Amino acid sequence: MSRSVLITGGSRGIGLATARALRAAGDRVAVTHRGGEAPAGLLGVRCDVTDAEQVDAAFRKVEEEQGPVEVLVACAGVAHDKLLMRMTEEDFTSVLDTNLTGVYRVAKRATRGMLRARSGRIVVISSAVGLRGEAGQANYAASKAGLVGFARSLARELGSRGITVNVVAPGLTETAMSEALTDEQREALLRQIPLGRLARPEEVAATVAFVASPEAAYITGAVVPVDGGAGMGH
Ligand code: NDP
Repeated sequence: MSRSVLITGGSRGIGLATARALRAAGDRVAVTHRGGEAPAGLLGVRCDVTDAEQVDAAFRKVEEEQGPVEVLVACAGVAHDKLLMRMTEEDFTSVLDTNLTGVYRVAKRATRGMLRARSGRIVVISSAVGLRGEAGQANYAASKAGLVGFARSLARELGSRGITVNVVAPGLTETAMSEALTDEQREALLRQIPLGRLARPEEVAATVAFVASPEAAYITGAVVPVDGGAGMGH
């Protein structure tokens, strides 16, 4: 199996672990990055998902180098945590622009080739926080909850064309994003996780790789938690 894969936010963290998992399984994998060098062994494409022109240019480069995108993993995301009273409109809309509208931009561009091929896999990285909510994360949680409605709508639009669209919802995962937590916040969050620890990026990657695989052909519109049980019941 050697499919053309594009992973936004594949330069580090969960996206990079996913890129490595799919590459190890034989796929041709491109990752977006905004600065520096792309990780070794992967095709790097410069792209900020808040800019539709950069998104189009990134897809054109991937199409030239490894063919039309057959698997899209939309993983690029940011958090900018503040209590609502301190959250400016810019704090709110900038997180939505990357985490939600950014996924609209890449999914729309990816479906062009997938519709032609009458097959494809789109995997969107949401968060347990999108389902449960979290104090100080109204912007982030709104963006991640929005992804569920977005992905399920696409699953309905694109199902008849052999394209599946699924959501993976990680809980707290050991990456740069979770390093920003204070010890106190980390302890409080750990108490809510039945498995009592953070996820490793590779554990999230394995789930993404499965829903992106040919074996998952009958799974679409699903929200798959990888959260140590933290989101149970949501
Ligand atoms: P990291 O902070 O380690 O990586 C974030 C990635 O997103 C980087 O590759 C970064 O690219 C990219 N990115 C951010 N903004 C943009 C942008 N405007 N355009 C293009 N790329 C961008 O985060 P994680 O690996 O932890 O997170 C990956 C995803 O998983 C995110 O969507 C996050 O919300 C989600 N998630 C994370 C959890 C966690 O606890 N870590 C829990 C649940 C969900 P660059 O290198 O160029 O900065």
